[in-house]
Amino acid sequence: MTATASPSDTKSAAKSAAAPRISFVSLGCPKALVDSERILTHLRAEGYELSRRHDGADVVIVNTCGFLDSAKAESLSAIGEAMAENGRVIVTGCMGAQPEEIREKYPNLLAVTGPQAYESVVAAVHEAVPPAHDPFLDLIPPQGVKLTPRHYAYLKISEGCNNRCSFCIIPSLRGDLVSRPAADVLREAEKLVKAGVKELLVVSQDTSAYGLDTRYAPSRWQDREVRARFYDLAKELGELGAWVRLHYVYPYPHVDEVIPLMAEGRVLPYLDMPLQHASPSVLKRMRRPGNQEKQLDRIRRWREICPDLAIRSTFIVGFPGETDAEFEELLEWIKEARLERVGCFAYEPVKGATANDLGLPVPPEVKAERKRRFMAAQEVVSLRLQRAKVGKRIPVIIDEVGPTVARGRSKSDAPEIDGTVHVASRRPVRPGDIVTVKIERAEAHDLHGLAV
Ligand code: SF4
Repeated sequence: MTATASPSDTKSAAKSAAAPRISFVSLGCPKALVDSERILTHLRAEGYELSRRHDGADVVIVNTCGFLDSAKAESLSAIGEAMAENGRVIVTGCMGAQPEEIREKYPNLLAVTGPQAYESVVAAVHEAVPPAHDPFLDLIPPQGVKLTPRHYAYLKISEGCNNRCSFCIIPSLRGDLVSRPAADVLREAEKLVKAGVKELLVVSQDTSAYGLDTRYAPSRWQDREVRARFYDLAKELGELGAWVRLHYVYPYPHVDEVIPLMAEGRVLPYLDMPLQHASPSVLKRMRRPGNQEKQLDRIRRWREICPDLAIRSTFIVGFPGETDAEFEELLEWIKEARLERVGCFAYEPVKGATANDLGLPVPPEVKAERKRRFMAAQEVVSLRLQRAKVGKRIPVIIDEVGPTVARGRSKSDAPEIDGTVHVASRRPVRPGDIVTVKIERAEAHDLHGLAV
C-alpha cells in the first residue's frame, strides 16, 4: 500500500508560513501505516506542515516495507525518487532494520531508522530541520517534564521483560522486552545533562538484557554507530560527564564487562542487582534469570578489579516452600558476600503470579522472624563497611540543603533507596553540587561529615 500525506488546510498553512514542511511516503502494511500516522501526528503537533510534493519540502520521510523482495524494490525506488527530487531524505520502517542495504545504494541519506523507532525519526527530523518556535510548546523544556529534582533523572532504556520469575506479573502487564535504540537513549541523556542533570539513573525491568530483542541493533550517535548493548551503552553514557548509575542489572556473564568501566570512573562503581535469594533450589522455584551459581567468586573478582564497587540487592524471605536450611543458606551467603546495600521483603503472593501454585506457604510469623534475622545479620555487615569509610574523603552529591546541614549521597547511594550523607559545610552548597566530604561518623545506613 502506498500513501502520500495530504497537505494541511490553507488556514493552517497561512497561519505558519515559516513552518518547516515535511513530505511523507508511507509504504507497506497497516502496521506501517499506523507508524506513519504516529510520526506525522507527533510532527504536526510540533508545528511541522505537510507538503504534497517532495520538491517543496524541507525534508522527506520514507517509511519503507521490507517484507518481500518486490516491497524492498518499491521502497528503494521511493527513496531514489525522494533523493532525486529533494535530496534531504530520512528512511524509516521495516527496511530500516537493515540499514547497510539502503546506505549502500544511497549513502547520502540524512538518517536510517528501524521500525517503531518513532523517537529516532522525530529526532532525525529535528536535526535536519528544527521545529518552528511555538509559544505554547516551547514552555516545555527540551528534556521534557521531570518529576525528579533537577540534578538527577531516571533514564529508561527498555520496557517489558523476557523473564518469567514466578513471583512477578510484570511481563504479563508490560509484555516482552522492547529496547530503545541506543541513539535515542543517548540523545535523551545528553538533553538531560545539558539541562543540568548531574546523575543519570539507568532503569528498566532487566537492564543487562538491553538490546537482546533488537539483536543489539546499532544506531547512529554523533559520528559513530552504537550498538544497543549493555556495555556499549554504559560506555557511551559514561562520556556525557554525569554520574551514571546502573539499576536492575541481573548477573548475566557479560555484566563482568562493565566492571572495568567502573574502575576507570566512567560509570559509578555501583550495581543494583536484585538477587532475591542465594539458595539454588529457591532460585529455581523463583525462576530467576542470570547465572547465580558461584556468585560469591564473581563478586570477589569484581572487587579485585574495582575495589570501590558498591552492590545493592534485594532479597525475599519466606518464599513458598523456603525451608529452614534454605533460609540458613541465604543468611550465610549474605554474611560472606558483604553487600553494601541490602533490602529484604517478606514474601507476599501477587494475584496472577505462578508462585501461587507452588503451595507450601511459609507461616507469617516465620516470615517475620526470618526477615528480622536477615536484617540483623546485614546490619552487622553494613555497619562494618560504613565504619571503614570514617576518615576518608569522598565525593558527595547534594540533594537538599537544610539550615545547618545538607543531605547528600555518596557514589554508593542511589536516591530514595540507599543511605544519606549528612554534610556540614562552612560555605554555601546547592542541590546538585558535588562536594568532597571528610567522613567523621558512620551509622549502618548514613554517614556524617564535613565538606572540605
Ligand atoms: S522480577 Fe523477573 S519477570 Fe519480573 S520484571 Fe524482574 S526479571 Fe522480569
